[in-house]
Amino acid sequence: ALILGIESSCDETAAALVESDGTIRAHQLARQEDAHRPYGGVVPEIAARAHVEALGPLIEAALAEAGVTLDDVDAIAATAGPGLIGGVMVGLVTGKALALAAGKPLIAVNHLEGHGLSPRLGDRSLEFPYLLLLVSGGHCQLLLVEGVGAYRRLATTIDDAAGEAFDKTAKLLGLGFPGGPAVEEAARRGNPRAVPLPRPLVGSGEPHFSFAGLKSAVARAVGQHSAEDLAASFQQAVVDCLVDRTRLALQGVRPTALVVAGGVAANSAVRTALESLATEHGLRFVAPPLWLCTDNAAMIAWAGAERFAAGLTDPLDFPARPRWPLDPDAEKVRGAGV
Ligand code: ATP
Ligand code: MG
Ligand code: FE
Repeated sequence: ALILGIESSCDETAAALVESDGTIRAHQLARQEDAHRPYGGVVPEIAARAHVEALGPLIEAALAEAGVTLDDVDAIAATAGPGLIGGVMVGLVTGKALALAAGKPLIAVNHLEGHGLSPRLGDRSLEFPYLLLLVSGGHCQLLLVEGVGAYRRLATTIDDAAGEAFDKTAKLLGLGFPGGPAVEEAARRGNPRAVPLPRPLVGSGEPHFSFAGLKSAVARAVGQHSAEDLAASFQQAVVDCLVDRTRLALQGVRPTALVVAGGVAANSAVRTALESLATEHGLRFVAPPLWLCTDNAAMIAWAGAERFAAGLTDPLDFPARPRWPLDPDAEKVRGAGV
């Protein structure tokens, strides 16, 4: 089956066409970084308006890239949340309109499921169950992925997300927006042992994450060290937290692989450290290619393909959801709105 995917939950507008065998027929993406940069972060109203302008042409470009029309598409998958509600509505309403006009089924995709299944698009041999470290701009969770729609949450952050910590640190260091890649770049020229920073919750038996204290410690150290040393030391602290918490989670599960996804999975220090952890446990390590880590529509089309194969489609009145957790209790209320 050929699935059209639409993504608009944050500041990337994207459209992609993906086959159920994982062939990516087209992927188109427009970033809004320049529009948000003057504000140092994503402005929801600006984002929503930019999605309205960008999405139609991107969908047309994706269809042209694949050399198909809407008639050739078997289903339309659109992100229905979680995310900035204005942007989510733009993408979801567009998906619904196309589904209605072309008489195709709609698949309302949880953006986090898009991130969570993207490693299976990157590596078609990855099988359930796998231990997923989902590290993105709004989330930091460990999930046992037992199947499509079957996620057991083992850990989550009690304050900031990992990507949020990168973005706030970039701001504190004057490295600009978006922050994650800028911090990684600066860290390359710094000493990860230069600045003593806390590793919140490391060693704790509670399977959770915390990054707020780390960010505050960076704020206190600004001016006393170079931005490069601060970036490198911060990044090392985040890596140590992610590895320690993942190691704890590995004690209680028997996965086929250790998997990382989400924007922070694009960070090479994070990837390298998790790969070592996997090796330590005799596990395969799977991380999507870098472009599939940050927001894109191929992962939404792919999650749509996985759901479509499982016979899961959604009604046209499916609501846009600003919040939509990815665990069994939330799945029970799927379709009920939040
Ligand atoms: P969510 O998926 O939780 O709704 P989001 O969609 O905004 O949030 P993603 O697009 O998955 O988040 O990831 C963006 C985040 O990833 C940002 O916080 C960004 O700073 C971070 N990020 C991107 N590249 C890197 C990198 N190389 N190193 C560290 N962080 C990175
Ligand atoms: Mg973004
Ligand atoms: Fe995301």
